[in-house]
Order: sequence, then C-alpha cells, then structure tokens
Amino acid sequence: MPFPSPRLWVVAGTLGNPGDFSPRAKGALEGADLILAEDTRRAGLFFQRHGVVPKGTLRSFFEHNERDRIPSVLSVLEQGHDVALISDAGTPLIGDPGYRLVRACWDAGFPVSPVPGPCAPVAALCASGLPPSPFTFLGFLPRQAGDQRRLFLSWAEAATTLIFFERNSRLRDTLETALECLGPRELCLARELTKEHEQIILGRLESHQDMEWDPRGEMTVLVGPPEAREKTLDVVVDQMLSEEMLTGPPKQVAARVAATAHGWSSKEVYARLIALARAAPASRTP
Ligand code: SAM
Repeated sequence: MPFPSPRLWVVAGTLGNPGDFSPRAKGALEGADLILAEDTRRAGLFFQRHGVVPKGTLRSFFEHNERDRIPSVLSVLEQGHDVALISDAGTPLIGDPGYRLVRACWDAGFPVSPVPGPCAPVAALCASGLPPSPFTFLGFLPRQAGDQRRLFLSWAEAATTLIFFERNSRLRDTLETALECLGPRELCLARELTKEHEQIILGRLESHQDMEWDPRGEMTVLVGPPEAREKTLDVVVDQMLSEEMLTGPPKQVAARVAATAHGWSSKEVYARLIALARAAPASRTP
C-alpha cells in the first residue's frame, strides 16, 4: 500500500473547468473520513457537479478558523482516519488557507500528500511566454499602495518572473504602482483561465493603459523579470517617440522625465534619443 493511513491529502479542485478534475482527486475526497473545505455549501455543489460521493464529514476550514480547527483535525488523524483539504478554486495553500495545518500535521508526525492539479499561477505562467524559472508568487497583494510599493521594491532587482493575484477593481492602480517600482517590463494578464471566456493578454507594464480586458471574473497577473538595460532603454525611448513627446516639452526635459520615471540618467536617454533620431525621418528629429 503506497499511501498508508492516516494522512492529510491536499487535493486540487478546478479553476472552473470540470474537465480538469482528476480521478485521483475524486478518489482522495471519497476516501477521506473528514473533508475540510473553505465553503461547505460550495463544496457540496462541487461534489454534486463532479459526481463525488463523500463518505466522510464535511467541515468548514478558512483563514479565520484554521488555527482553531487544527487540534480536532489532528485528533481525527490520531484515530487512524484520513483527512482531505480542498479550496474553493485550484490548489489549497496557493492564495488559500492550509499552510498552518500542513505544518501542524508534519510536526505531529502525520504525513501529508498532494493530489496535484489546476493552479492559477502555474497555469498562467505556462501560457504566458514569460521566463518560467525562476518565478516568484506573491499571492494577493496588500491593499495599501505604500505596502504594495514596499513589496514591489523588495523584488525590483530580482531576476524572476513575478506572479500575483489582484482584484479587477484595483488592477489599473496596482499596475501603475508596479510600473513606478519595477520600471518597463513584459506583462501578462491571465483572466478566467480554463473557462469559456478565458483571456490571456500580453503587453507591457508601461503601456498597460492600451491593454483592454473584461473587468469581470478572476485575474492572475504576471510581470516579466528585469530586462537587459539596453532593451529597457530602447523601450523608454520608443515610447517617447511614439507619444511624440518631442513635439511637447523640450527634448532635454522629455529625456529627464523618462529618466526619472524609469531609473535612467537623462544623459543616457538623451544620447539614445539622438542616435535613434539621426536614423529616423525628419519629423522625428529632436
Ligand atoms: N488556490 C487557487 C489556485 O490554485 O490558483 C487560487 C485561489 S485564490 C483565493 C483566488 C484567486 O486566484 C483569484 O482572485 C484570482 O486572482 C486567481 N484565480 C482563480 N481562478 C482563476 C482563473 N480561472 N483564472 C485566473 N485567475 C484565477
């Protein structure tokens, strides 16, 4: 018997597409004596829809009762029974509760096994075209702009693809804060993954205003790693040219604005601008 009882099963559900629910996940849920679910009503509906016939008790397990629930879960394991943990969407612990329980199980000597499956950050990453490794999952971002800024700045130098969850109502402001802290980078918005209205939108952080998406549904955001300085400089300069900043403020001021916004010296931006303008049509000459 490869998986002797008792143990905690961490069971992935779906991101919304029933076809992704695995036979192994069904088996783990049906074999458990206790099933912990974020929302028991939703879990009940999920079981109906996916033909899961649980033999065990279904009990709520969410962020605010996780600590209190742990002793009773451990006592179920002590009696030799299996426990399964599921979340409302995808994989438990990923933006969802369960971490403290998993630690507590190991600390008490009970094994924990995953039943892997859909997971929004990983699903988004593998369809994004962004470098898949290393990647860093930031979970849900803090609500306050100051806290967000501190978080982004702490990752600004790291050569990693950043992945986070954000609510649609805050997404524009968050992308603006990310741009201020991280500078120009590739951006991928992965919306309603695996569902009928899935949208995977590729763009850039500095031009997120040009990107459009349906404000309904679930969104996972990916920001590419810092780019080679030369490439970033070209992006800044291209943006200046395409926005025709040269017809607005004097060229040195434009260079300074771009430099301040993106961490380049105005001398560097201006030199690149001059070089490009020399090779460009007369209307673009600074
Ligand atoms: N545990 C889940 C997982 O494995 O991905 C994530 C649950 S977390 C509470 C919910 C967040 O995941 C949503 O706010 C959204 O950012 C993201 N998410 C969930 N389903 C998604 C989907 N189908 N497409 C894109 N993002 C999704």
